Amino acid sequence: MKRPDSLVRRTDWPSSTSRPVVTPLQPSVVYASPDPDALDAQYEGATGYTYAREGHPNADVLAAKIDMLEGAPVLFEPAGIITGSGMSAISATFLGLLRAGDHVLGGDQLYGRTLRLMNDDLPRLGIATSLADPTDAAAIEAAIRPETRMIVVEAISNPTIRVADMKGIAAIARDRGILLVVDNTFTTPRLYQPFAHGADIVIHSVTKLLAGHSDVTLGYVAARDPAHRDAIMTANVTWGLTPSPYECWLAERGLHSFDLRLARAQNTAARLGAALAEVPGVARVIYPTRPDHPDHNRAVALFAGQGGNMLSFELEGGRAAANAFTRAAPDIAFAPTLGDVGTTLSHPASSSHRALTPAARAAIGISEGFFRVSVGIEEPDLLIPEMVNAARIATEAS
Ligand SMILES: *Cc1c(COP(=O)(O)O)cnc(C)c1O
Repeated sequence: MKRPDSLVRRTDWPSSTSRPVVTPLQPSVVYASPDPDALDAQYEGATGYTYAREGHPNADVLAAKIDMLEGAPVLFEPAGIITGSGMSAISATFLGLLRAGDHVLGGDQLYGRTLRLMNDDLPRLGIATSLADPTDAAAIEAAIRPETRMIVVEAISNPTIRVADMKGIAAIARDRGILLVVDNTFTTPRLYQPFAHGADIVIHSVTKLLAGHSDVTLGYVAARDPAHRDAIMTANVTWGLTPSPYECWLAERGLHSFDLRLARAQNTAARLGAALAEVPGVARVIYPTRPDHPDHNRAVALFAGQGGNMLSFELEGGRAAANAFTRAAPDIAFAPTLGDVGTTLSHPASSSHRALTPAARAAIGISEGFFRVSVGIEEPDLLIPEMVNAARIATEAS
């Protein structure tokens, strides 16, 4: 290693015949090229990084792993694009692929911010939007317009855990030449791989189960068509939706345990659902592998018998029971996120769905006693009795 001649000049990286076993974190914003010809070639597509907003190694390492999980079409390596949040992945997709005059059709129970983007922001840019029930392919078909460019769906709805008719919707999108965009956050690629079932674009909030520790905010988007990938990549870079290397590095570390976390959480979720359903004050438990789930057969077929880590349940006693429940289980984080290593609880009537009238909430099955649970990886023999006990206390309190 050469002795440096200035404090501000970067030294050469010490050479080593061995290599680190952990992915290095590369925070550099800029990359120095040997000469203008080389820089020119890089801008024309030769390999190599120039400026971190345009791409950096930690984003590419993370993208390659999610590509593997999703079975993303091999267009480039990596195929997927990492964005600064799940919402940036959705925004980059819209900004890259839509123009004024287009229409976007969405599922009527998409993630709350996605609904807001569709209802408030796209119309401001001259892009029309409407929503339809994705559990009913005929309702989706009926909502298509001549200008419909894109259908946006989630296979599992939030927070009522309904399962969309993905097969029916994919067939409609294909026949009509409409892009099918699937937000696969709730399902994860282990339950469902949208590309294998006709999706054109797959999106993730990496913030949730993939990163898994509630310490990064990131998104992922991959496309089947190279021209779409290019347009989404350009939107990501130009609108400045790109991620930080440190967060990509943390998320890649989180992915090492993704399969173990999901397997444990989904096992616990099924057991928790069965235990809660036995409590007299619990009106219903919604979990895909339960025979009483409204879309049970479809869920079993789509997700190969797996139920995932998300479960919802409803207490008969309304808001009083809901208050008693969270107070009786103070160690379970009552916090509006999902996919964390720890179990989290959300109460849609007081948070994500508070803007709806009680009648509008009732229409989609969300009462004051309704909770969504993101089951974590804590010891099931700690968590399940804790929740069952809280449900019993809530029943008595109301
Ligand atoms: C959280 C979430 C998003 C948004 O992701 P952020 O990383 O919070 O921006 C989008 N879709 C679904 C289904 C989500 O759960």
